[in-house]
Amino acid sequence: MSRLVVLGGAESGVGAAVLAKVKGFDVFLSDNGKIGEEYARTLKEWDIPFEQGAHTPSLILNADEVVKSPGIPSTAPLVKQLAAQGTHIISEIEFASRYDSAKKICITGSNGKTTTTTLIHYLLTQAGLNAGLGGNIGKSYAMQVATEKHDYYVLEISSFQLDDTYDFRPDVAIITNITPDHLDRYGYDLSNYVRAKFKITRNLRPEDCFIFDSDDAITVDHLSKIVLHCKMLPYSQEKKVDQGAWLDGNRIIVRYEQSESEIYLRELALGGRHNIYNSMAAAIAAKVVGVEDDKIRSAFSSFSPIEHRLEPVLSVKDVMYINDSKATNVDSAWYALDCQTKPVVWIVGGKDKGNDYSVLNELVKEKVKAIVCLGVDNSKIHAAFKDIVGEDKIVDTDSAWEAVKVSSMLASAGDVVLLSPCCASFDLFENYEDRGRQFKEAVRKL
Ligand code: ADP
Repeated sequence: MSRLVVLGGAESGVGAAVLAKVKGFDVFLSDNGKIGEEYARTLKEWDIPFEQGAHTPSLILNADEVVKSPGIPSTAPLVKQLAAQGTHIISEIEFASRYDSAKKICITGSNGKTTTTTLIHYLLTQAGLNAGLGGNIGKSYAMQVATEKHDYYVLEISSFQLDDTYDFRPDVAIITNITPDHLDRYGYDLSNYVRAKFKITRNLRPEDCFIFDSDDAITVDHLSKIVLHCKMLPYSQEKKVDQGAWLDGNRIIVRYEQSESEIYLRELALGGRHNIYNSMAAAIAAKVVGVEDDKIRSAFSSFSPIEHRLEPVLSVKDVMYINDSKATNVDSAWYALDCQTKPVVWIVGGKDKGNDYSVLNELVKEKVKAIVCLGVDNSKIHAAFKDIVGEDKIVDTDSAWEAVKVSSMLASAGDVVLLSPCCASFDLFENYEDRGRQFKEAVRKL
């Protein structure tokens, strides 16, 4: 019996372990931290041996193959040891895809992954297709392959998950855009990060599709250096394309093979220029798998905003509070500011991943009346914007409640208070969801 060891006992690791069990492997899971209660219960239910709090080398180094969770870096000592002795290390999606013949639509990119993935899944299921949603969202892909049956999967895939893939092949691959993010994990080298994202395309065949934003300079530049043997389906808000999607006045036109369809911007439930891009990508993907035009249009109209992504919270004293806690880099905050039509009190800050704030200067000048910093070290934000909004209009806070309270004092009727932090949340919060939730709770207490 082949021995499969899974490193990491969270969503993807436990999913992979269950799938390995179902497929008859001698499976063992090891996590050097604490395994969540629910995950431990699942492992017990499936009778899968596991350890937590430490890695026991003798139980791991004898593996025929290892599935490594994306959170564990390849520089971890045990991972290095496995690699040195020649043990094959793969990711959960690589493992699961060996046992899955469903059609896969896979989405990666710097921003817009969750929105685009959720939208596509919604378009497909509203049209009556049997599609699973997974990857970085919700239930792991491996767990679904082990315990469910779908004709399609719509998978959000981070660059970390792509790191240990080899034969994984989507039928439809999407890169939403590429902007500097997570550079800390890629040796501060943008080209490493770009190559990691592009791994999603490397096994594409002539019958497969690649959907991408042709207004995105980094994507287009990389495409000029490589050759892909698949159907190329770009989307653009700036120019017409042969196949793919483009903006024509107030309509999106989608063309795939001989068929053309149109979607009016007013039919999109999600606002903002970035969501036009996300909708274009989603519409092309839905058309590729044969969803009819009227179903695509009605699903776009009924789709509701996702939590923490430009999520309207509440209007208090005629000030609208918006939770965009998921905006953890400069580019996503750019789009959030871009779609504001009222004066903005902007809550920004957190753990900076090497941000260059200068691209926001014009938007801040035009839209932002005051800045509320929510972070431990706000010096870069002061330096970047003091000459634009004035030092006296930049206030430091270190809790969601304080940030909301101060914002409510700086805002007047008709303004917007926008939490779109440009930064990761780990200095003051558990994660971006925690930051978003605390923000919403604070707003409700006003
Ligand atoms: P991801 O899953 O890639 O982090 P999300 O769909 O969760 O992306 O969106 C995160 C934030 O990024 C949103 O709150 C929004 O501000 C911004 N955003 C969404 N789509 C795009 C896009 N296509 N281009 C730029 N920014 C975007």
